[in-house]
Amino acid sequence: MTDKTNMALPGQLIQACERRQHRLRQAMTEHPIDALLVSNPKDIHYLTGFVGHDSVLMVTDSAAVIITDPRYDEFLEPWRGTQVAEVVMGTRHRLEDSVAAQCKSRGVSRLGIEAEWLTVSARTKVAAALTQGQVVDTVGLVGRLRWVKDEPELAAIERAGSIQCDALNAALSRFEYPMTERELCAVLEYEMKTRGASGPSFDTMVLAGPNSAIIHALTGETRIDQGTLLIDWGAVFDGYCSDMTRTFAVGEFPEKVREIYDIVAEAQQAGIDACRPGRTCAEVDAAARSIIHRAGYGEYFGHGLGHGLGLDIHEDPYFNELATDIVLEPGMVMTVEPGIYLPGTGGVRIEDDVVITPDGCRVLTDFPKHPDEMVIEPATATKGSTR
Ligand code: ZN
Ligand code: ZN
Repeated sequence: MTDKTNMALPGQLIQACERRQHRLRQAMTEHPIDALLVSNPKDIHYLTGFVGHDSVLMVTDSAAVIITDPRYDEFLEPWRGTQVAEVVMGTRHRLEDSVAAQCKSRGVSRLGIEAEWLTVSARTKVAAALTQGQVVDTVGLVGRLRWVKDEPELAAIERAGSIQCDALNAALSRFEYPMTERELCAVLEYEMKTRGASGPSFDTMVLAGPNSAIIHALTGETRIDQGTLLIDWGAVFDGYCSDMTRTFAVGEFPEKVREIYDIVAEAQQAGIDACRPGRTCAEVDAAARSIIHRAGYGEYFGHGLGHGLGLDIHEDPYFNELATDIVLEPGMVMTVEPGIYLPGTGGVRIEDDVVITPDGCRVLTDFPKHPDEMVIEPATATKGSTR
């Protein structure tokens, strides 16, 4: 039996969706469109709380309509009768006909689409189905709104961060010889899920020894032995991602890795200190990069300082040298993750998530990073905060 009282949408979600849709309608007035057809599932999630595939959301100046197929009929029951969205059942694989019918009944003649998301063939089908009116390409309308997070979003990201920290503590306490990267990765992902994560926010990276110097290496069958252990991991909670990296010494750090650890740590702190409203993303990148450069390792830091994160693990904006015209605003959530990678020897990356506040930033993730605290021993290995 289904308890109807459990099926109501939470009031906080309804209010958040109304605010987000209001901001979208304001942004839409800058474009020659009567409605926006939202097709990116993450954008639909953001605007309505609905998580589903093969569905679209049409937002007009007075309505939001989820157009889906009967597979989602029961799932969407809580949305019916709310201000969040009307629900229209279309035919699977023929949603463009329902879109066209909605345009006709609502007097929409200029239908905006998300050009960065809708495939060319889907766009062609929608355009052909519109017997009157036309398709207008727009880019990043909802995406730009998502740069600045609201309270429910921040709460979810922070919760994801605390889950991933607790999970790593638990996983490290179960670390023993012999264990491969993939085995420790499986334990870590298990510990995240049992703490409420819907899954990892990307393919967890557990990289042992020289593998830690390969920026986008895949977790594999390498046995974790004495030396460097780089873990880049994240959890998804309520749709929102967190993302951290810590670099450990199993036994002790190789001498060279211990040397670059301090440089990366100093660069990360400089990056965090540079995060404040009004700063450009290029300035924040430079604040950290200049430290690594001055230490003589500039060529071994081959990626940007960080990225936005939220419903997606990598979102605009990005900290890099090109982002000279992108200015930080309160509410943006960014990673700060400098690294130095010495091929054949090992790499160090330290990554935390921050939210920009009116007078600086607040670090959302909490796990030790002082080099003395990064030493783990098999079997007895345990590290980190218990918060
Ligand atoms: Zn990461
Ligand atoms: Zn990251």
